[in-house]
Amino acid sequence: MSEIQNKVVIITGASSGLGAATAERLAANGAKLMLAARREDRLKEMVAAIAKSGWTADYLVTDVSDRAQVEALAQKTLSTYGRIDVLINNAGLMPLSPLDALKVDEWERMIDVNIKGVLYGIAAVLPTMRHQKSGHIINLSSVAGHTVSPSGAVYSATKFAVKAISEGMRQESKGEIRSTNISPGAIATELTSTISDRDTATSTNAYYAKTAIDADAIARAIAYAIEQPLDVDVNEIIIRPTHQI
Ligand code: NDP
Repeated sequence: MSEIQNKVVIITGASSGLGAATAERLAANGAKLMLAARREDRLKEMVAAIAKSGWTADYLVTDVSDRAQVEALAQKTLSTYGRIDVLINNAGLMPLSPLDALKVDEWERMIDVNIKGVLYGIAAVLPTMRHQKSGHIINLSSVAGHTVSPSGAVYSATKFAVKAISEGMRQESKGEIRSTNISPGAIATELTSTISDRDTATSTNAYYAKTAIDADAIARAIAYAIEQPLDVDVNEIIIRPTHQI
């Protein structure tokens, strides 16, 4: 039996890209899923497709930048499945731009979703995981959480923060809670659609068109971290396309 079988897993940002690919892979391995994002039509379709395959999923429309909504997500997971084994803090956005463009609203949005959303997720599940004396928090950082490029200052700042939060969680694990930081390189998803700066969008889309790999590469890495025996904590995985420098 797969170690993923019957695990209760919350996935934020499940309506597209890495979150959707991860949902599909974990569902097929027998996980019980609670999917979260803002686009209800997408979540509904995914839950229906998962159910049609005989697997288990439910959803709650959730904006991770709203603490009460993230708390409600954890509560719904508990009332539906009775426990929370894994939280995948995946929701995020990447409106890259040079600092000179002064897209201050976008900076704030990245901080709200990419950092605060992760912290709200941890706050919502940690008491339950402590009570269970087991749990696993998987955060989506990025290669941009290890290095900074022009137009990426704020996005990188949020992903460096995610890496710090993952490491802090690991150090406070008390032998109960596993912490995994996943750092993808360029993966073909809807992520670049959040770039409003025209020049940055053009160059980033061109780069992704020639470099990006399929989202299932990240879903496989997440499944690998979850399926380890409970005394094994995969702390960090960096996955780049082979062509990415
Ligand atoms: P997508 O744009 O395809 O997916 C982003 C997901 O986040 C969507 O499901 C979106 O759903 C959700 N989301 C955005 N804002 C919110 C919000 N406020 N509340 C809840 N959900 C939200 O991109 P990816 O799949 O690529 O991104 C997933 C994660 O992976 C992000 O954290 C990203 O930074 C990270 N990453 C991606 C890389 C890549 O190259 N693709 C590289 C490195 C890291 P909805 O709009 O329905 O709310």
